[in-house]
Amino acid sequence: MKWYQLDQQEVMDKLATDSNSGLSKTIADKRLKKNGLNKLNEGKNTSLLFLFLKQFQDFMVLVLLAATLLSGLLGEYVDAIAIIVIVIINSILGFFQEQRAEKSLSKLKELSAPVAHVLRDGEWVSLPSTHIVAGDLIKLTSGDRIVADIRLIKSASLEIEESALTGESLPVTKHVNAIPTNNVEYADQMNMAFMGTLVTKGSGVGVVVGTGMDTVMGQIADLLVQTKPQPTPLERRLADLGGVLIIIALFLTAMVVGVGVWQGHPLYEMFLSGISLAVAAIPEGLPAIVTVALSLGVQRMIKKKAIVRKLAAVETLGNTTVICSDKTGTLTENKMTVKQLYVNHQLFDISGDGYDVHGDFYVKNQKANSRLVEESLLYAMLCSHASVRKHNKKWVMDGDPTEVALLVAAHKANITEASKKQFRIIEEIAFDSDRKRMTVIVEDQSHQRFAIIKGAPDVLLPRSTYILDEAGRRPFSMKDNNKVETQLLKMASQALRTIAICIKPLSPGHSYDAISVENNVTFVGLAGLIDPPRKEVKKAIKACKDAGIKTVMITGDHAKTAIAIAKQLDLTRNDEAVLTGSQLNQMSDQQLADQINDIAVFARVTPTHKLKIVQALQQKGHIVAMTGDGVNDAPALKASDIGISMGLTGTDVAKESSELILMDDNFTTIETAIKEGRNIYENIRKFIRYLLASNVGEILVMLFAILMAYPLPLIPVQILWVNLVTDGLPAMALGVDQPEEDVMRMPPRPVKEGIFSRGLGVKIITRGFLIGLVTLLAFIIAYQNDPDQLTYARTIAFVTLIMAQLIHVFDCRSARSVFARNPLKNVYLVGAVLSSILLLIIVIYYPPLQQIFETVAIPPTDWIYVLCMSSIPTVLFGFVPSKK
Ligand code: ATP
Repeated sequence: MKWYQLDQQEVMDKLATDSNSGLSKTIADKRLKKNGLNKLNEGKNTSLLFLFLKQFQDFMVLVLLAATLLSGLLGEYVDAIAIIVIVIINSILGFFQEQRAEKSLSKLKELSAPVAHVLRDGEWVSLPSTHIVAGDLIKLTSGDRIVADIRLIKSASLEIEESALTGESLPVTKHVNAIPTNNVEYADQMNMAFMGTLVTKGSGVGVVVGTGMDTVMGQIADLLVQTKPQPTPLERRLADLGGVLIIIALFLTAMVVGVGVWQGHPLYEMFLSGISLAVAAIPEGLPAIVTVALSLGVQRMIKKKAIVRKLAAVETLGNTTVICSDKTGTLTENKMTVKQLYVNHQLFDISGDGYDVHGDFYVKNQKANSRLVEESLLYAMLCSHASVRKHNKKWVMDGDPTEVALLVAAHKANITEASKKQFRIIEEIAFDSDRKRMTVIVEDQSHQRFAIIKGAPDVLLPRSTYILDEAGRRPFSMKDNNKVETQLLKMASQALRTIAICIKPLSPGHSYDAISVENNVTFVGLAGLIDPPRKEVKKAIKACKDAGIKTVMITGDHAKTAIAIAKQLDLTRNDEAVLTGSQLNQMSDQQLADQINDIAVFARVTPTHKLKIVQALQQKGHIVAMTGDGVNDAPALKASDIGISMGLTGTDVAKESSELILMDDNFTTIETAIKEGRNIYENIRKFIRYLLASNVGEILVMLFAILMAYPLPLIPVQILWVNLVTDGLPAMALGVDQPEEDVMRMPPRPVKEGIFSRGLGVKIITRGFLIGLVTLLAFIIAYQNDPDQLTYARTIAFVTLIMAQLIHVFDCRSARSVFARNPLKNVYLVGAVLSSILLLIIVIYYPPLQQIFETVAIPPTDWIYVLCMSSIPTVLFGFVPSKK
C-alpha cells in the first residue's frame, strides 16, 4: 500500500480509525491478536539445551571426561560414574547461574524499551511500543524513537532523523500532505515516519500503517547485525587473569603429577588426580560468577529504581568522582507553583500551595485584582501544551510542570480552558532548552492575529520594545527595563524560577516568520515560580560528599535562582561558585578546565554547554556522571563516563545514549546506584578472594604431601567434591552480600586500580597457604598415628580442607577482620554453608557414598579437632588488624 499517496481521510477510512477517538480497546486487542506484537524478530533465544551443553565446553572438563571414560574402560566404574555425576551436578549449577544472568539481562532490555503515546477510546495513553497496532493514532515529540511505520496527519515543525533507514544523518522536515507521485523513495516520503527513526525537533501526530515485520525496518531486519553484549572491562580483565591462572594451575598440577610419578605413585592414579586437581583449581567459572554477581546486583538496583543499561556501568559507578545533575525535577520536586506575578510594575503575591487551583492575589498583603493579571495568565495559557481540567470531580494536571503551574495560577484568576476556546492556534514554535522560549501565533474571534512568546526573562527582555500597561502598550524605556530587572533578581534570589510573558500584535496581511515574531515584542508580565528541593536530596548530596564525590548543579535557570537552591541543598555556601552559559561561551576549554574544580553551579546553560563541562572535568582526571533528558543532551550523555537519563521525563534518545536510567528522575537514586555499584565490585573482590585462596589451599596440600613423600591426601572424587561443595553456592552467596558500612566513606576507586590491590593478593596467598598447611598437618598427624588407616587420614584431610574453606568464606565478607561483621547477617551465605556441610556429612556418613568417596565416619571428638584446625587460617588473621 502506498500510504503516502493517500490523503489523511483516506488513510483513516482504510484503517477504520478516527482522528478524534483513535481505536477502541476491543478493536486494538483484536488487531494485536491477529498481527502479533509490534517488534522485529530477533535472533533465536539461546536454547536451554545449548546453555546446558555450553557448560561442558571448558577444555579441562573435557579432558576430565575423557580421562574418566578411560578409567571406565579400565574397569574403574565407580570412580568413573562418580566423577561424571559430579561434573553433571557442577554443570547444572553453572547452567542455573547463566540462565539467571540471561533472564535478568532480557528483563533489563524490556524495562528500557520505549513507550508510545496512543489515542485509545478518545484518551491519550502511554503503552509499551509492542502493543501498537495498525490504525492507532500516535503522538510524536522531540526525542521519540518512532515505534512503527506512520502516515503523518499533524506536524508542528516536525523533523525526523532517518539515518537508521536511509543513511542520511541530517534530519528531514515532515509535512502531512499527500504525495501524488508514484514510486517515491523512503527518503522522500515526507508525510511518513518510519520505525526506528528519531524525532529531533517539533511534534506531530500520525496513524500507524505498519507494525513489527510489516514495517520498512522489518523488511530489512534480516540485514541488521545482531549486536552481542560486550564483556565489561572487569569481565575482560578477569578473562585475561583466568588465562594466567590456568597456566599457573597447570604448572603446579604438572609438578604434583611429575613428583608423584617420580616418587613411585602409579601413573594412572597420578594422571586422574592431576586432572581432577586442575579442574578444581582452575577458576574457570570466575567470569560466569562475575556476570551473575553483576546481573543480580543490577536486579537489586532495579528494585531501587535504577536501570543499568550496560553492565560495564556498574564498575564505572564505583569510579565516579563527580555527578553533574540537572536541577529541575532531579534535585527539585518539579512540582511548581507560581508565587508571584509582576505586571505593569506591580507585584502580586499568589496564595495556595502545589497544584491546588484555589488561591488569591495580593498586593502588599491586601487582596487585589487587575485586568493585566488576567490578561497575562490568559496569554500564558494559550502559549502552553499543558492542561488542567476536572475529571470525575478531581483535578487532573497534564504536561510540563512549568506550564501546569501557570495554568493553575490562571484558574486562580478564573481563567479556565473555556476562555481558551475564543482563540485559534495558527502556528507554534516549540519550547526547547537551547532557545529557552516558546511561541504561538493565535487568532481571536475578530480574526486579529498576534504572537505570544513566553520564556526565560533574560532572553525576552532584550527583545522587548514595548510594555503593556492598563492603557495599552507603550515603549519599553530603560527605566522600565531596570525595574523589571531588579524584580527579576529579587525573585531569583528567593529561589524562584522566572518566566516572562510577551506578545506581539501581527498586522493582517503582513507575512511573518519565526525570527521576526520573536523580536520587538511587548512585555506583559513576569512570573516567579517556586520549585522546592526534594527533601531527601540534601542527605544524598552529603552522602556523596562523604564518599569523595562532588555534586555539580547544571540548570537552564537563572544563576541567582540556581545558587539559592544550591545553598538550600548545602551544595555550596559560596555565591561565587557559579558560572553562566554566557561566561562559558567566552572561556577556552583550558580556562574552563583550570577553574572547574571550584564551580558548584552552572546556570543558564544550554545542553551544548554540558559537553564542554564533561570534557573539562575529564581533562582534570574526573570520572563524570552526567544527567540529561532531551535530544540535545545526547552528546554529553555519550561523552560522560556514566550517562544518566530520566525514566519519567527523558526522551528515548537520551535513554538510548545513557548507561543508567533513573525510574523516578530522583537524584537520590544516583547515590543509591553508586552505593550498589561499589558494593557489587567489592562483592566480586570478595568471591575472587575466596575462590582463589581455596584453590591455593587445594593445590598446596597436594603439592606439599607429594614433596614430603606422603601418599596423596585426597583422591580424585574427593578433590572434585571439595570443588563442588565449596566453590558453587558459597561463592554466589558472597556475590549478593550486603555492603560494608563504610562503602560510602571510602574515596572513589581509581580507574587503574587492579583487582588484587588493597591487600587482596596478599590475603589470597597467606590464607590459601594456611588452608593448605592445616589440611596437610591434619592429614600427616592422622596418618602418622596409624599408616594403615589411610582412608581415615584422607577423610580427616577432606573434612579439614572443606571446613577451612567454609570458615574462611566468612572472613572474605570484610576487608578488615572476620570479627568485624556479624556472620549471620548474610542469610544466603549461612544457607549455602549449611548445605555444603550437609553435602560433606552425607559423603562421610552414608555407607554407599562412603564406598565411592573412600571415606569413613568420624566420631564427634574428631569434629572438634578438625574444626579447631580448620579455624586457624581465619581466626589467626582475625586478630591481625588490616587496613582497607
Ligand atoms: P534543568 O534545571 O533540569 O536544566 P531547567 O528547567 O532549569 O532544567 P530549561 O527547561 O532549559 O531548564 O529552562 C530554562 C528556562 O527556560 C527556565 O528558567 C524558564 O525561564 C524557561 N522555560 C522553562 N520551561 C518553559 C516553557 N515551557 N515555556 C517557556 N519557557 C520555559
